[in-house]
Amino acid sequence: MAKESIFTRIIRGEIPSYKVYEDEDTFAFLDIHPKQPGHVLVIPKKEIDHIWDLPDEDYQALMATSKKVAQRIREIINPRRVAMQVEGTGVPHAHVHIFPFSTVEEFHAEADMDRDPDHQALSEMAAKLAF
Ligand code: 5GP
Repeated sequence: MAKESIFTRIIRGEIPSYKVYEDEDTFAFLDIHPKQPGHVLVIPKKEIDHIWDLPDEDYQALMATSKKVAQRIREIINPRRVAMQVEGTGVPHAHVHIFPFSTVEEFHAEADMDRDPDHQALSEMAAKLAF
């Protein structure tokens, strides 16, 4: 059997995460290397690499949770805009990036992946955003 993705291990709780939301089909948690504070990853519980290969029900559940998370970010952080991005070259398990931003530069900003995660800030953000 192929090795499980790091995100499947996060859903199972085998790897800790800063959980924001969970339902039957989806899971949302803070990106450990946020582009902006409040950067959430929304994933389907089914481990499928390409978002475009998701069965329609799972794709729709992923979009419904993405919308809920974006609304939650608006309510709690009140940013100018909330971005949705799909890239997917880092982890072979479909995921949607939802994050607050104010400027075009912030939208295109890349996180510094070599930097140690700021666990204190992530923990405080998760406590605010979780629903
Ligand atoms: P991609 O480039 O594939 O669209 O994004 C993958 C994202 O997953 C990156 O933003 C990266 O920071 C995040 N990521 C990778 N490993 C982990 C992890 O173990 N925990 C969390 N919370 N995020 C991760």
